[in-house]
Amino acid sequence: MLLGTLKGEKHQNVYTGDIVKMNITKVFNWHCAHRLVGHRGLCKNVHGHTYKLEVEIEGNPQIGGSSDGMIVDFSDLKSLVKKFIVDKFDHAFVYNSNSYTDKLIAKFLKTKIDQKLLALPFNTTAENMAQWIFKELTTQKKLTDKITVTKIRLWETDTAYAEKKNG
Ligand SMILES: [Zn+2]
Repeated sequence: MLLGTLKGEKHQNVYTGDIVKMNITKVFNWHCAHRLVGHRGLCKNVHGHTYKLEVEIEGNPQIGGSSDGMIVDFSDLKSLVKKFIVDKFDHAFVYNSNSYTDKLIAKFLKTKIDQKLLALPFNTTAENMAQWIFKELTTQKKLTDKITVTKIRLWETDTAYAEKKNG
């Protein structure tokens, strides 16, 4: 129970039942360009999306301190995901570093007109990107020390997303 463990001020703004593991989610957005190498349809052309990323984390709400009643402060979660994921993708040309033609485009963009790039070693489908993002969020020690990510959803459009979760 919470109230018995609090020191000083008796907070009445906290849940007073048993503290159980639960989840919170924060949503992020960014714009970036890509193309799908070998695709037979329109996606073979360079085009852009406004991606939406949902990051679900699991934990126990903390007791005491400025994050009293929170698994992690949403603003701290925002800073972490922004640094490790969003800032890399936002306004970049995200390309397949295993593709000769993607590398040619990327080289031109970088050397001739100083464009922002993000190299990923696969075709940049929502499924592949979701798997990469999930791995980044669950294996980077600076993140795993602070948050436990259990699920992500990467929305490529308003009606299509790829999801990756634990297990
Ligand atoms: Zn696309």
